[in-house]
Amino acid sequence: MIALLAFVCAQTPLLEVSWDPSTARTGKILVVDVTSPPALAPIRSINAELDNKSGVALPISSDAHHWRVLVPVDIESKLAPQTLHIDAVLRDGRSSTWKKPVALRDGGYDKRAITVGKQFTSPSKQQKQRAERESVVLAAALKIKSEERLWRGSFQKPTPGEQTAPFGTLRTYNKARRARHLGWDLDGDVGAPIVAAGSGRVLLASERFYSGGTVLLDHGQGLMTMYFHMSRIDVVTGGVVQKGQGLGAVGASGQVTGPHLHFSVRLGGLYVDPRQFLGLDFSDDADDQAPRLPTATSPSPALAATPAR
Ligand SMILES: [Zn+2]
Repeated sequence: MIALLAFVCAQTPLLEVSWDPSTARTGKILVVDVTSPPALAPIRSINAELDNKSGVALPISSDAHHWRVLVPVDIESKLAPQTLHIDAVLRDGRSSTWKKPVALRDGGYDKRAITVGKQFTSPSKQQKQRAERESVVLAAALKIKSEERLWRGSFQKPTPGEQTAPFGTLRTYNKARRARHLGWDLDGDVGAPIVAAGSGRVLLASERFYSGGTVLLDHGQGLMTMYFHMSRIDVVTGGVVQKGQGLGAVGASGQVTGPHLHFSVRLGGLYVDPRQFLGLDFSDDADDQAPRLPTATSPSPALAATPAR
């Protein structure tokens, strides 16, 4: 039997897979390292999914045998083991798959009551209609997935302020409306500069009812960052920004209790903990050529047709 297993393994060598942390946590990123052993060809492309949600893959060795995949874990996931599923296409045209259950535990998020202006919990008919129109525009922008990777290296904190509210808290507004806090709030005076956390393209730059002055950046491959409550926006929809470039300024616009930046990270369609994301080290990223940013700065036709609000 052992001999038979060895024979099977020799015929179809498996990908070597490790992940960190060993137990996945809701609302966090699972960092999955995949190695194609010497008996297999280098990896041409790879997809890793947990609970059918896929992440962003980057090569971390120049021979393409070693890749890292950032897999998002849904903050609302049920606390049961999830299946980590990996599909790799190799450079010789063959494919290799790998699958194993991964334990999942709660990310440890608090509950909190928040008091905001009455217009936000009991909006007028016009305000409600405005918020609905804006949510349709945002939902359309969030569906865009550019295959091209526009970022290289680690991301940076968009403003230097300290944390005023963590990611993931389950908030009750004026005892009326419950919502998960899907960003990381950073302190700042009105007018303090906000910069792009990474290079990318501006998918949305507009004034919105709930999130105030809002910028949404697409970094490619399903990775996005969002900036809320800004007092000033210095970029336009469709524009291209480099990491560290000014986006505008901290403000107190929209549904807020005071000036701050609400900063969100979206990966594979899920909001993940921005603090954890900014702490990830991409220094061994082998794909370290200069970012190939698009040169066009005019809004894409799909977005240009959308009225700014
Ligand atoms: Zn916030």
